[in-house]
Amino acid sequence: MDGIVLRNMWIERLELQNFRNYRQEAIDFDGSYNVIFGENAQGKTNLLEAIVYLSCGKSPRARADRELISFDEKQSRLSARVWARDRDFLLEADLFRDRRRRLQINHVPAKTSSALSSVYQTVFFCPEDLFLIRDGAAVRRKFMDTALCQLRPRYAAALAAYNRAYEHKTRILRDMEERPDLLAMLPEFNERMVQAGAVLIRYRARFIEKLAVYAAANHAECSGKRESLSIQYHTVSVIENPLADIVVVEQQLREHMMTHRSAELSSRLCLSGPHKDDLVIEINGRDAKSFSSQGQTRTAALALKLAEREMYYSAVGEYPILLLDDVLSELDQRRQEFVLNRIAGGQVFITCCEDDRLPALLGGKVFHVRSGAVAPSV
Ligand code: ATP
Ligand code: MG
Repeated sequence: MDGIVLRNMWIERLELQNFRNYRQEAIDFDGSYNVIFGENAQGKTNLLEAIVYLSCGKSPRARADRELISFDEKQSRLSARVWARDRDFLLEADLFRDRRRRLQINHVPAKTSSALSSVYQTVFFCPEDLFLIRDGAAVRRKFMDTALCQLRPRYAAALAAYNRAYEHKTRILRDMEERPDLLAMLPEFNERMVQAGAVLIRYRARFIEKLAVYAAANHAECSGKRESLSIQYHTVSVIENPLADIVVVEQQLREHMMTHRSAELSSRLCLSGPHKDDLVIEINGRDAKSFSSQGQTRTAALALKLAEREMYYSAVGEYPILLLDDVLSELDQRRQEFVLNRIAGGQVFITCCEDDRLPALLGGKVFHVRSGAVAPSV
């Protein structure tokens, strides 16, 4: 490897056993570009999914770990040898159908996904991300959550605590007629949501404030300076300043919850809180969700994903591993060039179908995937 590459984190080797349609596979990657070719349904996305899983303990598309285990198998194993912060790491994940998974870093058990995120980070970009601009708020919350969980272990812990309290509260409100005794527990879950929620709000606000600057610069460049992109974090309306001291944010959330108490009891829903957060994205001063053209939507989504990558660089000092699943072929030549000019520096994985001419442009290693088997391509 040359000296430039060594400054960034990279996966040297990935081994898979009974993972999706991979039976037994070991792959040695390049530190810069890795192009993964193959026809539909051969295992290209599965390979990227394994890389994302080992970076954060979560698949970008599966709801449960057992979906990742090969059909008819009881367990699955993924491992990666990674170079990051001038050191070697061995990450291992064993997934079981009937019991909890086991994660290990350098042979030491890791209790949470956050431990994995402290080794290497990934930015995964797939065609669905082109809808980041147009779809409902949930995709934008997921975008913030995925990025922040990898960057900040405290955020991941607060998100888990918030979601747990939210689920409890939802159940209490739903079942309160049959189980009125449960209502006594409501204040406790409200308070947990206030405390964890305030943490989420402050992290999100700080993250978006910085991300917006990178994204605006990307968008301006990709659109030939013809358009301006602005992104604003949008949270519970009573929060005057989401960056204010945590005690202030907590107190405003607490009061807000009190004023919504009777409305929540009569609707039997958790009405308000950071679980409703969104991003307001504007292009040339107009709401992108309602008014942007297809091209503008694409440019803005690209600007956002590449800004995410820059956020990691500024936080960690190394470029995260970038995974482009089927996205380049969806872009016109100008946007393809924009992406390719932007991604030099870190390790990149690109999947594309058989007849794509991309690999010739890039260099690095080329792999061919067929029925869950990977072969270096010549
Ligand atoms: P495309 O170009 O269409 O995106 P792909 O190469 O990215 O295709 P993958 O999404 O990686 O394809 O999926 C490859 C195959 O893996 C699919 O045929 C799918 O049915 C199979 N598959 C998914 N989950 C499992 C599993 N748990 N066990 C075995 N095979 C699985
Ligand atoms: Mg795919």
